[in-house]
Amino acid sequence: MHTRTLAELGDALAAGEMSSEELTRHFLTRIEALDPRLNAFITVTGEAALEAARAADRERAAGRAGPLTGLPIAHKDIFCTDGFRTSCGSRMLDNFISPYDATVVRRLKSAGMVMLGKTNMDEFAMGSSNETSFYGPVRNPWDLDKVPGGSSGGSAAAVAARLTPAATGTDTGGSIRQPAALTGTTGLKPTYGRVSRYGMIAFASSLDQAGTITASACDAALLLEAMAGHDPRDSTSVDAPVERYADGLDRSLEGFRVGVVEEFFDEGLYPASAAAIETALDVLRSLGASVKRVSLPNLALSVPAYYVVAPAECSSNLSRFDGIRFGYRAENPRDLADLYKRSRGEGFGAEVKRRIMTGTYVLSAGYYDAYYLKAQRVRQLIAEDFRAAFAEVDLIAGPTAPTPAFDIGAKTDDPVTMYLNDIYTIGVNLAGLPGVSVPCGFADDLPVGLQLIANHFEEGRLLNVAHMFQQETEWHLRMPGGEFA
Ligand code: GLN
Repeated sequence: MHTRTLAELGDALAAGEMSSEELTRHFLTRIEALDPRLNAFITVTGEAALEAARAADRERAAGRAGPLTGLPIAHKDIFCTDGFRTSCGSRMLDNFISPYDATVVRRLKSAGMVMLGKTNMDEFAMGSSNETSFYGPVRNPWDLDKVPGGSSGGSAAAVAARLTPAATGTDTGGSIRQPAALTGTTGLKPTYGRVSRYGMIAFASSLDQAGTITASACDAALLLEAMAGHDPRDSTSVDAPVERYADGLDRSLEGFRVGVVEEFFDEGLYPASAAAIETALDVLRSLGASVKRVSLPNLALSVPAYYVVAPAECSSNLSRFDGIRFGYRAENPRDLADLYKRSRGEGFGAEVKRRIMTGTYVLSAGYYDAYYLKAQRVRQLIAEDFRAAFAEVDLIAGPTAPTPAFDIGAKTDDPVTMYLNDIYTIGVNLAGLPGVSVPCGFADDLPVGLQLIANHFEEGRLLNVAHMFQQETEWHLRMPGGEFA
C-alpha cells in the first residue's frame, strides 16, 4: 500500500478498502524496519499516531471525512508540535517540547491528518546535505552512501523510501526543492507569505517558507490547499484567497510559454543532469508549451547575496537561544556571561556558529553598508531579473541542482562548494517566488529534478504544469529498490 500516492490512499480510505489505523500501522512498521538504515526520523510518534488514526476512522464512520482525513504525514522537526519534542536538528533544542502547534501542523491536524513523527534535518535548516544534524546524517534510499540533500533531507528520504506518503519541509534557499531533486520526490516551495511561518523555528525570516515533499504534484496540491492561507499570527502571511489547487491540475498547456534560463546551463551543471533536463523540456513541448531562452543576468550573485542576508537574519533570530529561556543550558556556570557563552558554545554545531559569526560581522557598524546593504541591493536586482523574465514567459524551467546526490562527507570540509549546491534555487527565495522540483530522469542511476518557477501566487499554474508533466512521464513513480521496494 505504500507505493500509492496520497491521493490514491485517500481514495482507498474513502472506498473503505482499509482503515486509517491499518494504513498508519503499515507506515509505522516500515519506519521501524527501515529507518535505522536512513536515519530520516528524529522522533516517531507511534502511539499518538494510532490514536489519531482511530479518531479519523470514527470521523469517517460519522460521515465527516474530508480529502485528507486519516492520511499519514511526517513533519520536519522545525515545526513546533504540541507535546512532542521539536529539536530543529540541534543539541540546543534536544530537550525542547513546544507548548503549541505550528499553524501548518494545526491546519493539517484539523484536516484530519495523522502525524507519524518528526523528520531529521540540517541543524536549524542550515545545510544542503543533511550532514549538520545533531542526530547524524540522513542517508539517501537510492544509494545509502549518498546524501539526500538538505536541509529537509529527512522528509525527502522518508517520502522517497515511502516511510510516509508525504511530509512537510521548509525552504529558505532550496531546502525543499534540492532534497526533492536528490531523492526523486516532488518538492513544492510556495510563494513567500502563502503559508504561515507561525511556529516554524526561524532561520532567515525574510526567506523562510513552508512547503511539501510528496510523491506527486497532485499530492502537493491537496496539501497546499489545507496549509495555505492567512494567519493573523504571522504578519508576513498574505490575506489572499486560497485556490482549489487540485481542481486546476488538468488544464491544457497549449500556448503556454516556458522560459529556460541561459545561466542555469553553465559549466557547473553535470552533463547527464543537463541531458535529463533537455528531455524534460521536450516533454513540455509535446504538451503544447513553447520553450524559449530567458536570461537572469544577476543569477551568479544570488549565492553571495544569500550568504550575507541569511546569516544576518539568523544571527538575530538565534540570539534567543541563550541557555535561559529555551533548550540547552550549560552546567555549573561561573556567572551569567559564562552561562551564555557555554550554553551557546556547547549547544550549537559548527555550521550554525559559522553562520552566526558571519551574520554578526556583516551587520556590525562599519561593515553594514559594505555587506548587508549591498546584498539587499543585489537581492532587488535578482527580483527585477525575474520580473523581466516573467514579462516574456509564463513559467521558468531548469535544473534544481547542479549534480545528482553526492557522497556523504564529500563536501563537508568545504563550505563554499557546499553553498554552490544552491545556485539554481536561492534566487527564487530572494525574489519570494514559488518553485517546484519534479523528478525528470536519472544521472548515474540517481534521480534528477526539473525545477519549475512561477510568478508570485501562481502555485495553481505551477502545480498544473508539474501535474501535466507527471501525466506524461513516470519518473515520479520510480522507487528505490531492494529493501525499500
Ligand atoms: N542550503 C541553504 C543553506 O544552507 C538553504 C537552506 C534552507 O533552504 N533552509 O542555507
